[in-house]
Amino acid sequence: MPDRYAVIGNPIEQSKSPFIHTAFAQLTGQVMDYSKLFAPLDGFAAAVDAFRVSGGHGMNVTAPFKLDAFAYATHLAPSAQMAGAVNAMKFEGDKVYAENFDGVGLVRDLVCNLQCPLQGRRVLILGAGGATRGALLPLLAEQPAELVIVNRTVAKAQALATLAYQHQTGKVPVTGVGYEALQGVFDVVLNASSSSLTAELPPLPASVFGTGGLAYDLTYGKGLTPFLKLAQQAGVTHLADGVGMLAEQAAEAFAWWRGIRPDTAAVIHKLTVPLV
Ligand code: NDP
Repeated sequence: MPDRYAVIGNPIEQSKSPFIHTAFAQLTGQVMDYSKLFAPLDGFAAAVDAFRVSGGHGMNVTAPFKLDAFAYATHLAPSAQMAGAVNAMKFEGDKVYAENFDGVGLVRDLVCNLQCPLQGRRVLILGAGGATRGALLPLLAEQPAELVIVNRTVAKAQALATLAYQHQTGKVPVTGVGYEALQGVFDVVLNASSSSLTAELPPLPASVFGTGGLAYDLTYGKGLTPFLKLAQQAGVTHLADGVGMLAEQAAEAFAWWRGIRPDTAAVIHKLTVPLV
């Protein structure tokens, strides 16, 4: 019997995780089975219990269950504690180890795949939801010159800025602001709001984009989103979406489960939707 893994969510049909992990298993010669698991909105714990009883080794967790997984876990890694959410679990007897690899996946994509070092650069992140929260400490560990969080609901941006500033190991300035108070030019602009899921444009002034910088939309598979189009019109030539982040967080989970880190290039190539 191959070792069993799954991604749990509601809905779940859209998930690319089975494709990614099956490709990783082939690349690394691992014998494992990875499936999609749909759970009712009030049925997360029961579905995970049943998966564990049937011999499941680990799970990825997608919307809307990342907070349920946080509550379900018995051992939370610092990444999950900081994110306040879990996107990967490993089962060992009664123990449920939990991680959040989204932030480290984003930073690996920026630094390794896109060759965009963050050290000494001014970084702006849009949105103050789960993706931003998970990304803050991995971003700050790269020692940018400054990190600004901008959000529609200003209080959420300010609260996250305070949290991140207190928990970082360095002393990078972190501020949280509303769009109307946003000032200055940034080397790296990350759209971690969910605006691109509905093809909306956050109220972002085009003046934030530095022409030699990077504009990155964490939403993936949508082509040239309104955010990326705004950056392009402002003269930014280095544009990317979150497909690399998706693959890198999956590779982190795979390595955590199987003890071997797959190369992500082929999966990223296969899942990339051109930014046109
Ligand atoms: P959340 O629902 O937790 O947060 C959404 C955030 O977006 C909130 O801060 C909200 O602002 C803001 N927002 C929503 N609509 C708009 C808009 N029209 N204009 C400006 N701001 C808006 O979502 P997540 O943080 O979990 O996810 C954010 C995005 O990141 C999603 O698109 C998701 O697909 C993507 N993602 C990608 C991953 C990858 O691997 N590539 C991994 C994880 C997430 P407010 O607080 O004011 O409501």
